[in-house]
Amino acid sequence: FGEVSPQAGDDERVVESALRPHSLGEFIGQPKVAAQLGLVLEGAKRRGRPPDHVLLSGPPGLGKTSLALIIGSELGTAVKITSGPAIERSGDLAAMLSNLAPGDVLFIDEIHRIARPAEELLYMAMEDFRVDVVVGKGPGATAIPLDINPFTLVGATTRAGLLTGPLRDRFGFVGQMEFYSPADLQRVLDRSASLLGVQLTGDGAAEIAGRSRGTPRIANRLLRRVRDFAEVHADGRVTRGVAEAALRLYDVDHLGLDRLDRAVLEALVVRFGGGPVGVSTLAVAVGEEPHTVEEVCEPFLVRAGLLARTPRGRVATEAAWTHLGHTPPQGAGV
Ligand code: ATP
Repeated sequence: FGEVSPQAGDDERVVESALRPHSLGEFIGQPKVAAQLGLVLEGAKRRGRPPDHVLLSGPPGLGKTSLALIIGSELGTAVKITSGPAIERSGDLAAMLSNLAPGDVLFIDEIHRIARPAEELLYMAMEDFRVDVVVGKGPGATAIPLDINPFTLVGATTRAGLLTGPLRDRFGFVGQMEFYSPADLQRVLDRSASLLGVQLTGDGAAEIAGRSRGTPRIANRLLRRVRDFAEVHADGRVTRGVAEAALRLYDVDHLGLDRLDRAVLEALVVRFGGGPVGVSTLAVAVGEEPHTVEEVCEPFLVRAGLLARTPRGRVATEAAWTHLGHTPPQGAGV
């Protein structure tokens, strides 16, 4: 174990689908996005037309895929799922678009990673419900326009700013997902516990919620690990004491930082004297891709008040020094 990354592994996806909320009513937290999206869907239902294209942005594990599936179930339509990196040729996307039934939802995860030619094809599909099918090669190639059924595109991205302007502008609604409050995470945990048949006490849930990095995926994962511990070392009930002991064993600290979060902070504090340091240098120091550090790790560290982004680079705050057990230098951080 030792991993509390907000990104899902393969096994995870199986359990996740069992724990997914299926309607907006069941979807916990995110009051703003849920209310806005509820209106978009209700308006569309009344007009009897597919809703505008929806872009959901936010760090991994906050429920973007769940919301995309909910959009389909609220509208009573099918949801076809793909992802930006999976669309290698624009022809694949054209085939997928022309197979959509009227009103279907097409969900594209990591839409910011879509290849440029496919992205250009998407513009026309989103705007005019048309795709150009290119026949032939070189100077003799011709584009044959093909009508497709009206559909709703739901795109997910870790940051809306990663999309090109023309693509972003074609979404009628952009929902910005936020980290969950501990109270909302506690509700997520209570719901998951009853679905999994785990006895979870109020203070046990609070203890796990506080260490879940504001992320339901992590809350659910920690719940499963704590349940194992409760069954093996206690009477199966997840109390605060059991949660504390289990999370200590799994190296989840009281802020819920994972291995990468801690490595980034350690590098920033120990190797770079607290910064400022550029994100690519920091990524090299921890052996990760800059985009993972920037999109997966940093949003939470910033929110937890441990790291600040400044024009000159990343800086460790005083709280980061203290959290790692180091004495902050005079005037450290921001
Ligand atoms: P990624 O972009 O990494 O795929 P995501 O943002 O799409 O992540 P989901 O896969 O939708 O996240 O959610 C992860 C898990 O968290 C789901 O299986 C679900 O169990 C739980 N979850 C997410 N949001 C909620 C919610 N609002 N209420 C209850 N459970 C939730």
